[in-house]
Amino acid sequence: MAIAEWREQLKRGEVSARELVDEQLDRINQIDPTMHAFLDVTGDRARADADRIDEARSAGQTLPPLAGVPIAIKDNLCTKGITTTCSSRMLEDFVPPYESTVTERLWNSGAILIGKTNLDEFAMGSSTETSAFGATFNPWDLSRVPGGSSGGSAAAVASGECLAALGSDTGGSIRQPASFCGVVGLKPTYGRVSRWGLIAFASSLDQVGPFTNSVADSAEILQVIAGADPKDSTCLNAAVPDYSASLFDSVKGLRVGLIKECFDHEGLASEVKESVLAAAVQLESLGAEITEVSCPRFNDGIATYYVIAPSEASANLARYDGVKYGYRSEGAENLASMTARSRAEGFGSEVQRRILIGTYALSAGYVDAFYKKAQQVRTLIRGDFENAYKKVDVLLTPTSPTTAFKAGDHVDDPLSMYLSDLLTIPANLAGLPAISLPCGFDEKGLPIGLQLIGNVLDEKRLLSVAHQFEQVADVKAIHPKGHFIP
Ligand code: GLN
Repeated sequence: MAIAEWREQLKRGEVSARELVDEQLDRINQIDPTMHAFLDVTGDRARADADRIDEARSAGQTLPPLAGVPIAIKDNLCTKGITTTCSSRMLEDFVPPYESTVTERLWNSGAILIGKTNLDEFAMGSSTETSAFGATFNPWDLSRVPGGSSGGSAAAVASGECLAALGSDTGGSIRQPASFCGVVGLKPTYGRVSRWGLIAFASSLDQVGPFTNSVADSAEILQVIAGADPKDSTCLNAAVPDYSASLFDSVKGLRVGLIKECFDHEGLASEVKESVLAAAVQLESLGAEITEVSCPRFNDGIATYYVIAPSEASANLARYDGVKYGYRSEGAENLASMTARSRAEGFGSEVQRRILIGTYALSAGYVDAFYKKAQQVRTLIRGDFENAYKKVDVLLTPTSPTTAFKAGDHVDDPLSMYLSDLLTIPANLAGLPAISLPCGFDEKGLPIGLQLIGNVLDEKRLLSVAHQFEQVADVKAIHPKGHFIP
């Protein structure tokens, strides 16, 4: 159900907020024992919130825009008084004493927290398999991964456990799972949305964004969470346009660039390539002009990211020392061994690998060869985009080189896992907004996602192009087996 449709039903009194919440909780009870999108379902709070909304409606009060919308939150966003684990033993018992800005804005708009969703530990991964609390599975095929790191949020929306969810995207963690699960995922411009209360992974890349069933819903959620925040100095002080009002802005004459380097890549599955190129033809039929552009450094994104992100992670995760909060190993004989043991026992192997890589890349004697070099390449990648935007308005690529892979397929081979972020990482390095939306299915009936990358703060245009594509494509209708869900 679309958020706008829900709002109408609630307003007309056809369905109460309590009924919707109960329905969602039933759905979660029915499918989550096998799919495992949620780490924590906040049923009591959700029912109480829903009752309050129903009372306000009966009393004739004007309801806020997201009144009664059940939303799931990735478990790396702090929710006051509700355990926030980052899917790590390190934070297994962490109850934040404060609320993240994005969630606070959602609750102030009437949205209802339905639960906290699973992720790769500390958002490091592309399959939601590195969670310390067990993997999440893809609702289209439970033997496959939902993508990651926000796999729980993507699976929850795709399977109808909630109307929308929030995730975070450092190198693709909203877009890639959205693509694997057949939903819409938006990573806003770096600084468009506050990071206050998002547990830091790589601070120059992290950004929060929505998972939704449609582009119109994505616009509604972005509207609420975007905008300046004095608590996050990297959050931009720029006006937030009315995203919903511009969804039908004409795409006639819009210049869409296909990034040559993406389509030439050998790792790109042919079914994905064909489906995304067919989407370009559909955009053309709407009046867009399709051209090819070159971003010569695009494919260097992965190598650059896997120096910068671990470097920032090694600094950010230094705070988990067993002293102030987080897991503490008992019985150590001194402070140094307590810290070492706490970190060895509290962090899983992927997190430890990233900390080691990052610490190495930042260490004296190597920092110029690795970290500084990576920052220089990052500047070149950003320059490629700047050049491209002199010629086109929006860039188009597949979101991920493949559709959802089998659980376990890449767990023992980190490099092959890292490759699944090939097409999403460059937008993070350049700080650009990007959206993934369904554009078709492969032979197995698994969703394929297309990615649109916009210029800085151009979410409005991204959403309108995506929305109009969605209207003409009607992707769900072409699924070979009809609708899915376990
Ligand atoms: N999959 C990427 C990684 O493992 C991106 C993760 C993210 O965006 N949080 O780092």
